[in-house]
Amino acid sequence: MKELAVIERIPRAERAARQLHRLKGLITRLSERVPLYRDRLRDAGVQPGDIRSLADLARLPFTVKDDFRQTYPYGLLAVPMEEVIRVHASSGTTGKPTVVAYTRQDVDTWSEVMARTLMAGDVGPGDVVHNAYGYGLFTGGLGFHYGAERVGAAVVPISGGFTDRQLMALRDLGSTVLCCTPSYALHLAEAIEEAGLKPKDLKLRVGFFGAEPWTEAMRDALQTRLGIMALNIYGLSEVIGPGVSVECPERDGMHVAEDHFLPEIVDPATLTPVPEGTVGELVFTTLTKEALPVLRYRTRDLTSMTTEPCRCGRTLARIGRIMGRSDDMLIIRGVNVYPSQIEHALLQVADVEPHYLLVVRRDNALDTLEVRVEVGTAVAAAGTAAMEVLAARVRRKIFETIGLTADVSIVPPKTVERSTGKAQRVLDLRK
Ligand code: AMP
Ligand code: ZN
Repeated sequence: MKELAVIERIPRAERAARQLHRLKGLITRLSERVPLYRDRLRDAGVQPGDIRSLADLARLPFTVKDDFRQTYPYGLLAVPMEEVIRVHASSGTTGKPTVVAYTRQDVDTWSEVMARTLMAGDVGPGDVVHNAYGYGLFTGGLGFHYGAERVGAAVVPISGGFTDRQLMALRDLGSTVLCCTPSYALHLAEAIEEAGLKPKDLKLRVGFFGAEPWTEAMRDALQTRLGIMALNIYGLSEVIGPGVSVECPERDGMHVAEDHFLPEIVDPATLTPVPEGTVGELVFTTLTKEALPVLRYRTRDLTSMTTEPCRCGRTLARIGRIMGRSDDMLIIRGVNVYPSQIEHALLQVADVEPHYLLVVRRDNALDTLEVRVEVGTAVAAAGTAAMEVLAARVRRKIFETIGLTADVSIVPPKTVERSTGKAQRVLDLRK
């Protein structure tokens, strides 16, 4: 495990030399083995020998989600099927899912980056890892499972759902680490409170939350209500799954496992790289993946990146919180709105719970935004006048945040549907 910590702290120049070596190898493999990349590299006029520095990356073609659809299910594989030992698929809401595949070496790489993820929260032998990410085609469950085994912790592979049973396991098995989506963590926090338990009745000390957007205000809520350090993790199936990046205890950006996944931030309109610190679309090139390498994969996730040294000693670049997706952005009456902005606003209003649903409609060519949000149990009994006052407060806070007037519906506790995995928070009825 020690060598993994060392890899994360080597000078950036030393890492860059390794990255370049790996990038050259990748271009050769892609042009020899994957027809789509062979054609694209040829069209871009790029020969494997043309790659002389990491800056040459900017000359290479992009990959997009639709490339996976067009070549569904196995057209992007760079190895024969005999070398594939695992298949996962990403949660598509429409059409066919995105299928991803792993060789034995890929599963090993994945375990390594997931071990590093857990080590960022100092997880190791003696820890009990309550893994409530979904097991199955979704990469979350098995990704954390292999990482936890690699660091020598005891894994509780409970998967999502059956909240009562989750509570029993958390308490009886002495879980110290919680892994799940932030929305499910909040749901668990509520259930813990309802059972009359306090954070000190549990042994939880750190949580790894990701797979969906969340906010700093949500972090504060989870840290207080669960009595833990809440770390943000980010990953995506097309790149490997979870394990792409994770916060260290400084909680000031997520370190990217750059020795395996080369990050770039580009302007989503012009596709040119933006200066450090500027928000743009996150793009990844996998340097070591065997079965399904990707070249400049456009994640659609919006964030910024910094290579400034971190107080923790890691020299890995850090990406900021995902601010939204270029394709999940809502445009309401011409205003760009990200659900995370609304969440941020809601968390600033006392007496509402951050369980919400955004409903967008079009009435007579005019877009309307309804924000359905739950009232806290304490205020629920206070009557309609109190609800109206609360709705007005929420409306004002949303207006201050996004500059739009929303119809606010304050709904009773527990009426916004809970999810055990990724929360569905937008209902766009305009389409
Ligand atoms: P999937 O491949 O199905 O696991 O989905 C990956 C997508 O989940 C990413 O492209 C992001 O849009 C989203 N995601 C994952 N982790 C985070 C996170 N920590 N914050 C915001 N969005 C995330
Ligand atoms: Zn750090």
